[in-house]
Amino acid sequence: MSWVTPDNNAPQATGVPSDVKLQGGCLCGAIRYEIDGPLTEVGNCHCSMCRRFHGAAFGTYAKIVAERFRWLKGDDLLSAYETSPGIGWAFCRICGSSLGIPNHGKLSEITLGSLDSDPGVRPTEHIFVGSKAAWYEITDALPQHHTWPPGRAR
Ligand SMILES: [Zn+2]
Ligand SMILES: [Zn+2]
Repeated sequence: MSWVTPDNNAPQATGVPSDVKLQGGCLCGAIRYEIDGPLTEVGNCHCSMCRRFHGAAFGTYAKIVAERFRWLKGDDLLSAYETSPGIGWAFCRICGSSLGIPNHGKLSEITLGSLDSDPGVRPTEHIFVGSKAAWYEITDALPQHHTWPPGRAR
């Protein structure tokens, strides 16, 4: 995947005002990023690809917009496993940490697990529960969608 060079001087996104700056990065520390929060559309994906990519019961993601996201360092070490051209899963080339969902050269979602601290938001839904691991039981009351929620796709 070739990554779009971020424009760190781009104007801030309008709409929801940003009142929180969040930072995160990979396990080895080579890749670091910053987001102007708040984060939105936080959900747990139980699909078989997210399970394999994370080696876990599910992946938790939040949607990001490019204007509110910037790499602090190490974006040259960002790699991606593509399931179709430009789409897949992004990870650190050194330590393998999962960092998000790339969409044609930019991240469109980040993994909540790569954040340093409490983003203040919580997952609001489970998606692709039709592919859920048999050994994991969902015990919260959040909405569950068999695949994508109605009207939404990645
Ligand atoms: Zn790393
Ligand atoms: Zn998934």
